[in-house]
Amino acid sequence: MSSQPLSAHNFKQLFHSVEAFLFDCDGVIWKGDELIEGVSQTLQMLRSNGKKLVFVTNNSSKSRAQYALKFQSLGIPVSQDEIFSSSFAAAMYLKVNNFPPQNKVYVIGGEGILEELQLAGFTGVGGPGDANKTIDFKQNKFFEHDKSVGAVVVGLDPNINYYKLQYGTLCIRENPGCLFIATNRDSVGNMTSLQEWPGAGCMVAAICGSTQKEPIVVGKPSTFMMDFLLKKFNVSCSKMCMVGDRLDTDILFGQNAGCKTLLVFSGVTTQSALEDPSNNIQPDYYTSKISDILDLTEA
Ligand SMILES: [Mg+2]
Repeated sequence: MSSQPLSAHNFKQLFHSVEAFLFDCDGVIWKGDELIEGVSQTLQMLRSNGKKLVFVTNNSSKSRAQYALKFQSLGIPVSQDEIFSSSFAAAMYLKVNNFPPQNKVYVIGGEGILEELQLAGFTGVGGPGDANKTIDFKQNKFFEHDKSVGAVVVGLDPNINYYKLQYGTLCIRENPGCLFIATNRDSVGNMTSLQEWPGAGCMVAAICGSTQKEPIVVGKPSTFMMDFLLKKFNVSCSKMCMVGDRLDTDILFGQNAGCKTLLVFSGVTTQSALEDPSNNIQPDYYTSKISDILDLTEA
């Protein structure tokens, strides 16, 4: 079925049939540290109409607590309980799979992953601490790695380097049963307000290349996070609407979970990409940005 542009008529139906709106963050709520126009008023309107708001982000650079602070600094009241980040998902994946707490987790990614691992009772190593490590083949003829690492978590890492690649690769290839977990495989993202930057997908691809293994993906489009969301919010998936700017993560996640889906063009997807014959992911609705719904409810 092809997508429909959001209109006053179909939005009214959507609005009344949906109890919770799930929002992606990068390219929907903000771009880098800049809020997208009208976001604050839109979220306020939804809340005052009794809609539950949930934020589901693949960006693993921050923990839920750090995201709550970011929302606060942008003047939007959001509680940590309303945030589901892929950094949290990575820690929860280990928890529900009874990962032995005595085993370590090597992180290629940001502080957010380390913080969520710690909150879940796990020991994360690597991450930003390995940002400045370098390799010299004359000095590092043999690279030592920790044999007690039982999982490698790979997310967005602006400081990825050859040291981290070798560390993660050795753990996955040589430590028996070592898990390879990807927070997400986004190709690009709006890390700043002015342009798109390589996403976690490129860091994950580097480790796929060296290990010849495929990761367990815990972020969108995987519905792994949905179980945690459902435990917190007593809403059935059919009464949720996933709002996002990426087809292959946000919209696919919404569809995989049985939610309504709304694509916005304020991030990485253009209308021509949606309409391109090579695209086979069709959201229920599309519109330019989330604040369009303010005009539609007034219409
Ligand atoms: Mg996004």
